[in-house]
Amino acid sequence: MNIILLGPPGAGKGTQARTLVEERGLVQLSTGDMLRAAKSSGTEMGNLVADVMARGDLVTDEIVIGLIEERLNSDEGGNGFIFDGFPRTLAQADALGELLAKHGKTLDDVVEMRVNDDALVARVTGRSTCADCGEVYHDETRPVPADGKCIKCGGTTFTRRADDNEESMRNRLLTYYRETSPLIGYYYANEKLRSIDGLGPIDEVKARVDGALS
Ligand code: ADP
Ligand code: ADP
Ligand code: ADP
Repeated sequence: MNIILLGPPGAGKGTQARTLVEERGLVQLSTGDMLRAAKSSGTEMGNLVADVMARGDLVTDEIVIGLIEERLNSDEGGNGFIFDGFPRTLAQADALGELLAKHGKTLDDVVEMRVNDDALVARVTGRSTCADCGEVYHDETRPVPADGKCIKCGGTTFTRRADDNEESMRNRLLTYYRETSPLIGYYYANEKLRSIDGLGPIDEVKARVDGALS
């Protein structure tokens, strides 16, 4: 199955995607993770997108569509893909539809995770990530264990994203409502949209995600 997790920054897309990877053997394609990896390894593209990302603006459609195309061409994802943070514009949604069709794949469900802005700001400003395995934590709702070791891999280094500050987050929210929220109507019209409440404990949200998948 191929699914999109759609929702504003901090909605819990990455958190839920990791569980779907473990339980259903799907491959997570996060354009945000791919862009951060390019930035960390100092590639030309990574240097180009660093300022745009820090401000909370979108990088060009051309770049992210290219990243997704590479991964779809690479023959992974036997059980399917989870698109996390992609598409974010109507042009990206059109491109994804064409790429999937080219590979004989179809899109099954688009799960929209709804969370109010105040909760989103609280979520991203408390977010940290295991540098070794990418497990996602939150200072209050999902703290790193007291022994300082990642519950998944035992790693001891946790990073915070440069854009997870309130100023950048406010701009990311504006960008989401302006550029990305039209996709809700787009997928509704395609009869792919399943909207769920993203508030509440992570395992309750997980049950809603499972219930939304066809
Ligand atoms: P979040 O987890 O907060 O939703 P992401 O990790 O998905 O954020 O994205 C971080 C940043 O990377 C975005 O603010 C944007 O600058 C860039 N980015 C990620 N995915 C896309 C995309 N599909 N189109 C354009 N820019 C993107
Ligand atoms: P996204 O990928 O949509 O930007 P993340 O999965 O990275 O969102 O989650 C953002 C932050 O919120 C993380 O710190 C994560 O631990 C926390 N979080 C995720 N789901 C929930 C939830 N249901 N309740 C409270 N906090 C959550
Ligand atoms: P720098 O100041 O060196 O540019 P930043 O503070 O801008 O570093 O970037 C935050 C760090 O988060 C990056 O060094 C990157 O390695 C790391 N990172 C990579 N992927 C993720 C992720 N998915 N979530 C959180 N942090 C990540």
